[in-house]
Amino acid sequence: MVNLYSIDALKENLEPLRNKGLKIGFAPTMGALHDGHISLVKAAKEECDVVIVSIFVNPTQFNNTEDLKLYPRQEDKDLELLTQNDCDFVYLPTAEEIYPPDYKEVKVDLDTIENTMEGEHRPGHFNGVVNVVSRLFKIVQPTKAYFGRKDFQQVAVVKEMNRQLKLPVEIVTVETKRDPSGLAMSSRNLRLSEQELEKAVVISQVLNKGKSWANSYSPAVTRQKMIEYFEQTSLKLEYLQIVHPDTLNDLNQYWVSGATACIAAYCGDVRLIDNMELITKEEN
Ligand code: AMP
Repeated sequence: MVNLYSIDALKENLEPLRNKGLKIGFAPTMGALHDGHISLVKAAKEECDVVIVSIFVNPTQFNNTEDLKLYPRQEDKDLELLTQNDCDFVYLPTAEEIYPPDYKEVKVDLDTIENTMEGEHRPGHFNGVVNVVSRLFKIVQPTKAYFGRKDFQQVAVVKEMNRQLKLPVEIVTVETKRDPSGLAMSSRNLRLSEQELEKAVVISQVLNKGKSWANSYSPAVTRQKMIEYFEQTSLKLEYLQIVHPDTLNDLNQYWVSGATACIAAYCGDVRLIDNMELITKEEN
């Protein structure tokens, strides 16, 4: 694996490959890598000729300075894991390179997608995501970019950004990778104690409950039952919503194909998110 620390080094290495017509698969990350990130690398390896991962803890997508400060960082381990998984390039930019003094903020009208769930509870978060992802796309110029379904709303935002900015990148969504316990893998899990790790399992449990309740109840009733179930646990619920997979509007009376339950909760002082498709999406 080649480590790239600057835009110049990146250009020098990727341009000849691009000129040969090779497909470049890209997975942007914030490091503290785990098997969830590696599933993006594997998906990219299957579909592309060259795989590049970026590691950049993007300050503009944190609305909470403490969360940014405590975000896990383990570069050496990350590089080892990527090497073991045959990643071709890793891009490790500095904040100055991503946001130079003449940087012009990218604005995208995200409308309803932005004003719910993560957008509602983390003001400015998706503006940060749009800016870092569009900037990384411009620098890396990938053929395909890989994002985890774990960040369900982020995928919707990136797809909408891509559509509005007319970027020549195909967005690919990769299923959420879970621990054997069902807990969605997350860099933030590193901040959980043994006990908290056990407690956090209730998040995927309630999502699975929702999936079975969805067979018998409306979205509104399913949601209510999920909230009541969750309130009996020691985690603190921030939101639990059942939404349309594309518009992210709340579903109440009727189910739609791909209806998804999204949840954010605090386990101790660590904020965790997860989601699950409750009604299987019919592919056409
Ligand atoms: P992050 O480093 O948390 O910004 O995540 C980088 C990418 O990895 C995003 O596209 C995430 O959705 C994806 N990702 C994170 N956790 C998982 C997981 N458990 N399964 C699949 N993809 C994931």
